[in-house]
Amino acid sequence: MRQPIYNLHNHTPFSDGAYEIDEICEAHLALGDLPVAGIGISDHLFCTPSSREVTNPRQFEKLFSSETRGYVETVLEARRRWEGKLEILVGCEVNWSLNKAHLDSIRGLLDGVDYILFECIDWAGLTQLANQSKRWPCALGLAHADVSREFPNTSMDQVVRTMANARIFYEVNSKFLPLEQQNNWYRLLPKHKIRLALGTDTHDSLRAVDTLRDLHAYVCARGLEQKLFVPPINAMASS
Ligand SMILES: [Zn+2]
Ligand SMILES: [Zn+2]
Repeated sequence: MRQPIYNLHNHTPFSDGAYEIDEICEAHLALGDLPVAGIGISDHLFCTPSSREVTNPRQFEKLFSSETRGYVETVLEARRRWEGKLEILVGCEVNWSLNKAHLDSIRGLLDGVDYILFECIDWAGLTQLANQSKRWPCALGLAHADVSREFPNTSMDQVVRTMANARIFYEVNSKFLPLEQQNNWYRLLPKHKIRLALGTDTHDSLRAVDTLRDLHAYVCARGLEQKLFVPPINAMASS
């Protein structure tokens, strides 16, 4: 069975992307031969420099709650606009090292968010996240993780088992093309229940979207297509 194709990693001017959601959608439909079912918007959240100075949860929530709500609302509006053409998921990218002291606050601000891509996470962080993954209200994934570099003292086998058990998905990211460089990692995956997602990390060039084709071809060539995971839609509690 063919799995639907989603690109879960796209930035907009809400954070550091150059293109609006509609332009990103058009670029995906223009891929033509690649039947893209949907995209995720994954802007950086909880990352203004002032977050470093925030010392208590109330301050953190005050700083980010309306910003986050506005973001979610913007993406949900796009979801409605594109209904029937492309499914739009509400994602975000969160810097683990910057935010690890604020996880309880962040969990309370995720109404309407379908998934989080964590970046800058080390092995201690990944095990912490794995231990608490069930407490999160949405799907969790690792953004652009070069497993051998980011977890240098942990075997790849242990990394994949930890992620599979905690249902943390692994993003196949364009940054690492050609992906053959990481054959050692991908060779391990077929026998594990790991979830995979595709992400082009679209920022200032829509050409990034074209690399979705390469990511998908590699995943299929490796026999990993059935592992492609689509985060379930998280209905907003308030609507
Ligand atoms: Zn990133
Ligand atoms: Zn990104």
